[in-house]
Amino acid sequence: MPVRFYNSMTRTVEEFTPVQKGTAAMYTCGPTVYNFLHIGNLRTFLFEDLLHRWLRYRGYNVRQVMNLTDIDDKTIRDSRAQGMPLSEFTEIYKKAFFEDLKALNVAPAEVYPSATGHIPEMIGIIRTLIEKGYAYSTDDGVYFKISAFDGYGKLAHLDKDSLRAGASGRVANDEYEKETVSDFALWKKWSPSDGDVKWQSPWGEGRPGWHIECSAMSMKYLGETLDIHSGGIDNMFPHHENEIAQSEAATGKQFARYWLHSAHLIVEGEKMAKSKGNFFTLRDLLAKGYSARSIRYLLYTTHYRKPLNFTFDGIKGADAALKRIDDFLFTLGNIKSEGAEDAEFVRMLTTQTEKFEAALDEDLNIAEGMGALFELIRAVNEGMERVTKGFADRVLKFFGKADSVLGFLNFGKADDLTDEEHKMISERSDAKKGKDFARADELRKVLLDRGIEVRDTPDGTVWKRI
Ligand code: AMP
Ligand code: ZN
Repeated sequence: MPVRFYNSMTRTVEEFTPVQKGTAAMYTCGPTVYNFLHIGNLRTFLFEDLLHRWLRYRGYNVRQVMNLTDIDDKTIRDSRAQGMPLSEFTEIYKKAFFEDLKALNVAPAEVYPSATGHIPEMIGIIRTLIEKGYAYSTDDGVYFKISAFDGYGKLAHLDKDSLRAGASGRVANDEYEKETVSDFALWKKWSPSDGDVKWQSPWGEGRPGWHIECSAMSMKYLGETLDIHSGGIDNMFPHHENEIAQSEAATGKQFARYWLHSAHLIVEGEKMAKSKGNFFTLRDLLAKGYSARSIRYLLYTTHYRKPLNFTFDGIKGADAALKRIDDFLFTLGNIKSEGAEDAEFVRMLTTQTEKFEAALDEDLNIAEGMGALFELIRAVNEGMERVTKGFADRVLKFFGKADSVLGFLNFGKADDLTDEEHKMISERSDAKKGKDFARADELRKVLLDRGIEVRDTPDGTVWKRI
């Protein structure tokens, strides 16, 4: 089955065919490192993790680039407010970003370039744009002339008439609304509010605009035509529209073949955003005692193009769903009975595997994919007495493969325990056999405090992490 994606450019679901067979070159707009990420940002990065992992599951050699925006209006504003050098300030949040990705078990991208390390590449593109007549220099910087680029507005589907009406002005800010569409800054000449943040350029000392950063870093690492470019839906305009204009005007080639955008994480009907103050960081939630695994589950398992309303009940629902899967895998992992496999179960496993894969092939429909897994869990749970070790192993193998995409399953592997914990488990079994129930109970409690639940089954003592 081919993989298909909803392409924001054409507004249709299309079969994915990369430039180079078998490889997927994807550029994912990364964080602006001026604060801790909120879980809305993380929703977008988890969607991109799903995209990366699913392409890998389907055998693609994935090359993902995620930039770090360490120079823009906001990083300068806040580093100055803190009285810190820009690089020292952004370093704090770069480190925190990688910690958050690790806590959420996000598969690392192949390259994480920083904007400040690519100023010469940005200057190179700006120079080409001026030479080709797409950009002009003013007393405060260099601007992209949107009227010179025929396709301006094709991604955000801007209406041509309003474009002509609005296209008279210039905008220096990195962020602005569709209503104020204008020529935008490629290079901003130094002003006192930039403090000591400045680089040399043919147009005087200054700094790049935000949009040119992504054009330069994506083309440097992935070539002039990328397979996939993605980000949150708010990146579509002006950021991605401007990236297309700059890149295509400079190279004369199509910039990205597929544009994927994730819907927002919302709180009481509004986008979660730092500027609105309605946000939670991952750290906030971990400090409240919620697990990163449940947060991953919650953010990961809603279709990426559907807005997701954040609530604490939602995390509790994720906890309950995970417990159901944990119990199932735990039970299967401890089945010892031999014998022929139940033909109906074997057929069901094949059907549900196909359903899971078909759902993800169709624009990463993870919600439907999880539905297929839960159907399998329900059916097997209902006939658990007919499950043999052979079949249990097959199911576990499939869930293991599914977890290369999901990244939140818990198989309670024996190598998760330390030697000391192994010893405590066997000492507890011995104490029980010797009818020293007080000691057995005491050890059970110590293990429980470490997050290990021990259970006695007809097949012996088994354990799992909780
Ligand atoms: P920023 O650090 O502001 O550049 O944002 C990093 C990424 O998070 C971008 O792809 C944004 O589109 C995305 N983003 C920001 N807010 C939200 C939200 N509430 N829900 C989902 N994605 C978001
Ligand atoms: Zn970007």
